[in-house]
Amino acid sequence: MVTELWDSKIEAMKPDELNKLQMKRFKHLIKHVYENNAFYKKRLKEVDVTPSNITSMKDIEKIPYLTKQDLRDYYPFGLVCTELDDIIEVHASSGTTGKPVVGPYTLKDVDLWGEVMARSLYANGMRKGDRMQNSYGYGLFTGAHGFEKGAQKIGAMVITISSGNTQRQINVMKDFESTVLACTPSYSLYMAEVADDMGYDPVNDFKLNLGVFGAEAWSEEMRTNVEKRWGITAHEHYGLTEIIGPGVVSECKEKHLHINADHFYPEIIDPKTGETLGPGEEGELVFTTLTKEAFPAIRFRTKDLATISDEICNCGRTLPIQSRIKGRSDDMMKVKGVIVFPSQIEAGLMQVEGVSEFYQIIKSKKGDITELSVEVEPTEARWKEGKLDDFEQKAQDEIYSILNLHVPVKAIQPKTIERSTGKAKRVIER
Ligand SMILES: [Zn+2]
Repeated sequence: MVTELWDSKIEAMKPDELNKLQMKRFKHLIKHVYENNAFYKKRLKEVDVTPSNITSMKDIEKIPYLTKQDLRDYYPFGLVCTELDDIIEVHASSGTTGKPVVGPYTLKDVDLWGEVMARSLYANGMRKGDRMQNSYGYGLFTGAHGFEKGAQKIGAMVITISSGNTQRQINVMKDFESTVLACTPSYSLYMAEVADDMGYDPVNDFKLNLGVFGAEAWSEEMRTNVEKRWGITAHEHYGLTEIIGPGVVSECKEKHLHINADHFYPEIIDPKTGETLGPGEEGELVFTTLTKEAFPAIRFRTKDLATISDEICNCGRTLPIQSRIKGRSDDMMKVKGVIVFPSQIEAGLMQVEGVSEFYQIIKSKKGDITELSVEVEPTEARWKEGKLDDFEQKAQDEIYSILNLHVPVKAIQPKTIERSTGKAKRVIER
């Protein structure tokens, strides 16, 4: 079977041709930042990387990492490498932990963004004729805009509803016959709950067949639940404001995340030592934007933990494959000497019969000791059945089998955890 590709020339490129293209673009990038930005020029001079002395992609390892702190120091436009007048669009992250990260785009950058997003959505199965309900929040945040650009490039209809007002979402989904839902995975689950409450059957009463989800770390088990809940195929999207927004990877029908490495050069590093790691080794993802004009990032540390493999996918794409994000290194918790990611607890919970997708991890500190517990909602039916001790025990056992750590689980009344229309808050501190 031949898989359809959006851009077969690039997506099915021979690895040595990809390397040549990356090298050509890398040289051009170094010249661009060296000539147009004082910060980069100084930084490159310090490590003796100049436009004329690059001989291989390995030379990239001489360049220091770009960190969030660098971005903050040059807030808002200090790292721009074009004339400010050439910028036609600006986005920013929410900046919950300090100043927001600003993402400026030239016309060419906007075109590039549309192109990589079209590639990603096409890989998910979106085609002209599809109707995408765009339930990411429209605003400074990159999400909604990236999905809109990509879908329009494919020729699909974009329903620009934004997030929130969930009953209206369901009415629009029904009346406009949306076939694709774009939002966070947790918001799609809240929508399913509201559809239930309005008397609909999420699987059979809508035309939805595809979910394009992102902006949240979620487990494979959660993906399976989302798919069952709506009767759809759910695809993962990954991206960052610092790199371009969504569109860094394209998830194919095999559910492999192919990195759009002709534009975003990936590396995996040891987060502690900064050393470059090889294929299959787990570490922190680092990206260099090879083709962006206004705001190129060279060796940006994402804080996201993953692996990159060089295995060949059955889909026909040769672009390198990145694993699902295990978690942000910021979300990593150390409990009694055990490293814990929220997605691992989620994976355990989702094994339990009668569990809903709504849960919260409670982190508390007793002196220097971090303790975790979990509150989770069973489904309404399971709640009414009673005997919740069994339910809690099963959840604890499942979590133990993944982490080798005892985490107390409490079943709480359905619909008590606050629902989210964007990124769900999975960990709370008490
Ligand atoms: Zn593939």
